[in-house]
Amino acid sequence: MNIVLLGAPGAGKGTQAALLEKKYNLVHISTGDIFRANIKGGTPIGKVAKSYIDAGQLVPDSVTCDIVKDRLQQEDVKAGYMLDGFPRNLFQAQELDKFARVDACINISVDPALLMDRICGRRVCSCGASYHVSTLGGRTTCEKCGKPLYQRDDDNPETVGARLKTYQTQTAPLIDYYGAQGKLITIECGTASPDGVFAMICEKLDAIIK
Ligand code: ADP
Ligand code: ZN
Repeated sequence: MNIVLLGAPGAGKGTQAALLEKKYNLVHISTGDIFRANIKGGTPIGKVAKSYIDAGQLVPDSVTCDIVKDRLQQEDVKAGYMLDGFPRNLFQAQELDKFARVDACINISVDPALLMDRICGRRVCSCGASYHVSTLGGRTTCEKCGKPLYQRDDDNPETVGARLKTYQTQTAPLIDYYGAQGKLITIECGTASPDGVFAMICEKLDAIIK
């Protein structure tokens, strides 16, 4: 099964991806994580990506599509994968349809008013864990692995404002794109906890797997 995870920045795609990875044995492919690894490693791709990411804009399609295409040619994804953060505009979705098969698109829908605080209060760990400052009680290390938590460079109010706009104008139209293909699964999160959201996703996924 190949899944696209759709949702605004801060909707919880990464959190749900980690849970789905375990339960359904799907490889988690996050274009944001790939770009951040390239920035950290000082690669040419990282150098291009950084200016766009810092501005809350999309990294050019040519770069992004090539990365995903290459990644999907590796052996480990054969049994199924989740794309987190790709596609992010109509062009990328159309390209993806040329080199891969998408079985379902899970749209994680969250009240937009919550997103700014969620993202600006986010603290992350290099192991992939993610927290909100309001629940940390002053703790500065990861509960799962003990490493120090940090804030992503692009998790500041100015960049987040731009990211939310980019989502609205470029990514949200993909809801209709996958809806028209009959592949859309929308999860209205409301006030549900991460585990509650996960349960809603599993219920819908299990129904289509059978
Ligand atoms: P979030 O979903 O919280 O915004 P991501 O880690 O998915 O975080 O993405 C961080 C940044 O990486 C984006 O703001 C964008 O600049 C870049 N990026 C990630 N995926 C893509 C993509 N598919 N196309 C273009 N740029 C991307
Ligand atoms: Zn950790």
